[in-house]
Amino acid sequence: MSTVGILGGGQLARMLALAGAPLGLQFLVVDNEPSACASQVAPLLRADYRDFVALEEFAKRIDVATFDFENVPAETAQWLTEHTRVFPNPRALAVAQDRLEEKTLFHSLGLETPAFAAVDSRIDIETAVAKVGFPAVLKTRRLGYDGKGQYRLRSAADLDPAWAALGGVPLILEAWIAFEREVSVIAVRAQDGEFRTYPLTQNWHADGILSMSLAPAPQVENLSASAFAHARAVAEKLDYVGVFALELFVVDGKLLGNEMAPRVHNSGHWTIEGTACSQFENHVRAVLGLPLGDTTAIGSSVMFNWIGSLPDARPVLAESRAHWHDYGKTSRAGRKVGHATLCAADNIEMSRRLARVARALDREAQAAPVLEALQR
Ligand code: ATP
Ligand code: MG
Ligand code: MG
Repeated sequence: MSTVGILGGGQLARMLALAGAPLGLQFLVVDNEPSACASQVAPLLRADYRDFVALEEFAKRIDVATFDFENVPAETAQWLTEHTRVFPNPRALAVAQDRLEEKTLFHSLGLETPAFAAVDSRIDIETAVAKVGFPAVLKTRRLGYDGKGQYRLRSAADLDPAWAALGGVPLILEAWIAFEREVSVIAVRAQDGEFRTYPLTQNWHADGILSMSLAPAPQVENLSASAFAHARAVAEKLDYVGVFALELFVVDGKLLGNEMAPRVHNSGHWTIEGTACSQFENHVRAVLGLPLGDTTAIGSSVMFNWIGSLPDARPVLAESRAHWHDYGKTSRAGRKVGHATLCAADNIEMSRRLARVARALDREAQAAPVLEALQR
């Protein structure tokens, strides 16, 4: 029986462990938070990511290491490769951890991005604005997630407050894109280079946090092939093994690269019930060198993200082909505490199911853009 070690004990680790259990796999999660939600379903090794004594014990107890948390220090990932197998590799992790490196890589592979410029000082913002224009968004190059570490710039009056809010660490200024929509590629690459993608997913964010996903994304005939080719090019360039997400903006029918996540991704949660082999199972298969599973969508899926606190599960559970995920976390503003996935045979059945659930949960505003996309 193989043991998969996971750095980070959040809901992604939890869903990886749940997906691997039927395969007879064991898991060991490293997190310094004793109440990490993955610890409810897998053993926890309580340690800091720089505690190399504990990491040595971790490496001894596992067959392969992977990540739930994308910001594990590069030094730790590198150290681990000297003690166990590690997927994705530390270089892939390092590139994905830095918005400047990531966007530079996208460009080198022919994937356009919003205009951007590095910002390391207050003066740099002026130069960057001259290049990128308004509106723009100043972001920390590293450690941002769920829209944290970002400041929107509408005019020169915003430069000082933006610098006051974020200055002091390496930053990037990006053009703010009035996109038509956002999509993501969830892809998996095996150790032998086999590459598979799930159907393109359309995503809606609220306050920088993923709110809803719809898969397969409607009307993407002209986008899918090029989105998948970009994902493949990134994976091959980084010799990536495992599941990753490529977040894209669609503007004037063209794709722009926003960022990649070097791990299973929130916009792929629908694959648990919406495909034969979820992103979580495929990630585990890839890091263990097992054959990859089927990524084809079974009908249509919609995911609601539960941010802050969970609504009442019953209206969802009362619906057929509807699935509830409670991560076992305590409520806190802005925190991802669970999700629900609705599945249906087609977009017409999905529209009815989604409308019923949204009404029962008083989530009509959240679901409205998804219903609109389904009706197009
Ligand atoms: P994640 O939780 O996905 O890792 P993050 O904190 O890394 O998020 P981004 O993905 O860069 O942040 O931004 C979050 C959301 O904010 C995007 O999905 C998009 O909706 C919006 N956004 C970010 N950058 C831009 C941009 N340059 N133009 C328009 N919208 C943007
Ligand atoms: Mg991110
Ligand atoms: Mg993002």
